[in-house]
Amino acid sequence: MNVEAKLIDIDDYIGKANDGSATPVTVAFGDGIGPEIMKASLKVLIAGGANIAIEPIEIGEQLYRSGNTAGIAPESWDSLRRTKVFYKAPITTPQGGGYKSLNVTVRKSLGLFANIRPCVSYDPFIATKHPIMDVVVVRENEEDLYAGIEHRQTDDVYQCLKLISRPGSEKIVRYAFEYARAHGRKKVTCFTKDNIMKLTDGLFHKVFDEVAAEYPDIENEHWIIDIGAAKLADTPEAFDVVVMPNLYGDVLSDVAAQIAGSVGLAPSANIGAQCAMFEAIHGSAPRRAGQDMANPSGLLLAGVMMMAHLGQRDVAERVHNAWLKTIEDGLHTYDIYKDGVSKEKLGTRDFADAVISRLGETPQRLAAAVYDQNSKPFAVPEATPRTPAKKELVGMDVFVHSTAPVEELAREMKTAESELVELAMITNRGVKIWPGGLPETFTTDHWRCRFLAREGKQFNKAMVLDILRQLTGAGVDFVKTEQLYTFDGEPGYSLGQGQ
Ligand code: NAD
Repeated sequence: MNVEAKLIDIDDYIGKANDGSATPVTVAFGDGIGPEIMKASLKVLIAGGANIAIEPIEIGEQLYRSGNTAGIAPESWDSLRRTKVFYKAPITTPQGGGYKSLNVTVRKSLGLFANIRPCVSYDPFIATKHPIMDVVVVRENEEDLYAGIEHRQTDDVYQCLKLISRPGSEKIVRYAFEYARAHGRKKVTCFTKDNIMKLTDGLFHKVFDEVAAEYPDIENEHWIIDIGAAKLADTPEAFDVVVMPNLYGDVLSDVAAQIAGSVGLAPSANIGAQCAMFEAIHGSAPRRAGQDMANPSGLLLAGVMMMAHLGQRDVAERVHNAWLKTIEDGLHTYDIYKDGVSKEKLGTRDFADAVISRLGETPQRLAAAVYDQNSKPFAVPEATPRTPAKKELVGMDVFVHSTAPVEELAREMKTAESELVELAMITNRGVKIWPGGLPETFTTDHWRCRFLAREGKQFNKAMVLDILRQLTGAGVDFVKTEQLYTFDGEPGYSLGQGQ
């Protein structure tokens, strides 16, 4: 079978109609090194016994340049909705404005809320400072600063909205624990910055603690992201499964992949309730395109994750072990080749053929991959329905564009006071400036002015409009408002620093 497998014409296979027995998979060949590494990866998977039918779609640079700002043709969504499985090579996003990130579009449109990135070191066969490393980064994929809601509000100040939801946090944290349980992992660590972002990251941490209590068989811990990231980069062997909000996960999964050996080796799975997408974490490496040099390993290992996801766990195990054996035999692409460690430098196609030749073999020194053939995929978690809290309006923050001294601004804002509401404070970039600020504090042209109900009075919606009407009359340039609520008596807003 091995010799024959090498002879597979992958172009023929890609064009082959499905006789009904194979699982359809939507495949995008991408840009730059994408087509080469995708063909190499598919060839190995098919030789390894993958029973898939390939539905090719076009994405990426050509579409972008033809005026499609999303980088994906409308009809491609039909294929994705039908197959529900997307095997995607990297694409080139043209420089300059107007082009939307295809990855973000696909993840959000298909509800792929969980991004799973195993980061493993292969010491001594691939150079790494961390010989013992086997960390799985579970990154929330849809929320946080990636909601993409940004505004310029004044000459000086731009804003990006960080959105963290309870259902979003619960789904990803629960996924991390379910993943840990299904893969025999011992510990789940949560990273947040909730000492600063007490409401948003605070919610993520709180949900983590609640969900962790339901998994007493799995150890849990929380680290503040800064020292946690330092620890991960220094002592990755202290971590097992790590779960975090979107931005931290984006950064740290690349760090984890790189310190394991190379970003070129790391796969990623994007999982949703209905659909899933599998890809390498690296980009399209345009400078290496068309030279038969690129390492297909990241994409191939993503394909291995896809096989496990499709229930073809025997294929996943066979291909994974053949790949490990190839690495162990010192057959390496240029990016991981090292004199004295590697035996032979191979191009993309020869590397794929080397893996195919080892199908059926297992590594001798690296730990062999074992995929429990009887295990069932765990259900993708859903958020627990909750009864809404008692929500009460207690005030309003008015954000103002102003270059006037703060005392003058306070005088203007006070024109909106009444026997019901008063101006409670003014902050600049979160720091209290009025009343009683420090002269040393640097200020910009973007001010937050907080109105609260006077002692014994109740704030209501009509006051919001009254305040804005008064401020309009006074010529105040307000750029946005935020209503202040309590939820079951708990303030749903932060205090000013120094308040
Ligand atoms: P890149 O990952 O393409 O390349 C970074 C470096 O790693 C380069 O030196 C490259 O030669 C090397 N490299 C990457 N993958 C390799 C592989 N498989 N084998 C050998 N060497 C490899 O990152 P970049 O240069 O910042 O981005 C290039 C393009 O890719 C950009 O247009 C970017 O937007 C895009 N990109 C796409 C994705 C994606 O589609 N998922 C992800 C990241 C970047």
